[in-house]
Amino acid sequence: MANLHNRVSRKELKQLIAEDPTPRTTISFYNYQHFDDPEKFRNELYIQLKEIGVLGRIYVANEGINAQISVPTENLELFRQYLYSLEGFNGLRLNIAVDDNGKSFFVLDIKVRHKIVADGIEDPAFDMRNKGKYVDAEGFNELSSKADTVIIDMRNHYEFEVGHFQEAIEVPSDTFREQLPMAVDMMRGKKDANIIMYCTGGIRCEKASAYMLHQGFTNVFHLEGGIINYTRQVKEKGINNKFIGKNFVFDDRLGERISPDIIAKCHQCGKTCDTHVNCKNEGCHLLFIQCSECAEKYDECCSSACQEVIHLPEEHQKELRKGIVKGQNIFNKSRSRKSRL
Ligand SMILES: [Zn+2]
Ligand SMILES: [Zn+2]
Repeated sequence: MANLHNRVSRKELKQLIAEDPTPRTTISFYNYQHFDDPEKFRNELYIQLKEIGVLGRIYVANEGINAQISVPTENLELFRQYLYSLEGFNGLRLNIAVDDNGKSFFVLDIKVRHKIVADGIEDPAFDMRNKGKYVDAEGFNELSSKADTVIIDMRNHYEFEVGHFQEAIEVPSDTFREQLPMAVDMMRGKKDANIIMYCTGGIRCEKASAYMLHQGFTNVFHLEGGIINYTRQVKEKGINNKFIGKNFVFDDRLGERISPDIIAKCHQCGKTCDTHVNCKNEGCHLLFIQCSECAEKYDECCSSACQEVIHLPEEHQKELRKGIVKGQNIFNKSRSRKSRL
């Protein structure tokens, strides 16, 4: 099996990619396509993609595939032809990153997982092949203006906080696996309503739509390609934009402005603001919303405690960081959970 995995050290590979002048295009895609033998599919995919110089991170499961990759730009068409030749992949939507240098990946890493999106669903009767109907931007606008339509946001709280669709409801949990049963609970008694689910890129809401159908809801829709694809269509076709605020993204910008509305507040002073930052104290790194005045007042920290830390000598700071388990530290409205605030 050795030929199916990389053998050069990551450090060397990183160096090679940094120096390689070949233009690369960064692409992401997912496909809920049932594989009986994900391991076999993974191995075939690895050989083919390796051949045309694809790098990136791909997860394969029984339920489908989720991929973030970079392709040598000259092989883009070759890649597309290969992908579209696979059963169930023809015409699949590929998200091509724009402002990107194509250097985000330096190995090809394809892993087989239990699921492509962790959902906590144990029911063997649940089937991703039975999912909601897609709506595009126009379809979304039309359906969302009907009185018996409910729009459900399937993202995390911090994403909803800075931007969401008009009249969308939030499912207040930090994890997708908790959100699924909560969404069902929230919609009890509304079995026949039109339900439109959405998320950033479509992968979560597509699964959520299947889960709602599985739970007996009948008119379930999901926004094709998520907010990213919606905003692209709005711009290209000049149609009415119903998304207010910012779309949170996990790159350096921590959010892309979609409408001029600022719907969130500074977590420190309460002033209207939707700028996400990470606390400057490395031992904290909390993701939170901070206005420019508070950034100045607290030296870009989330609290005076963190502010004190960053002014200590680096050696002392390192001591303090020892033993801290660094997870994804995110500001949450239930302030009691973050005792330092
Ligand atoms: Zn402030
Ligand atoms: Zn902090």
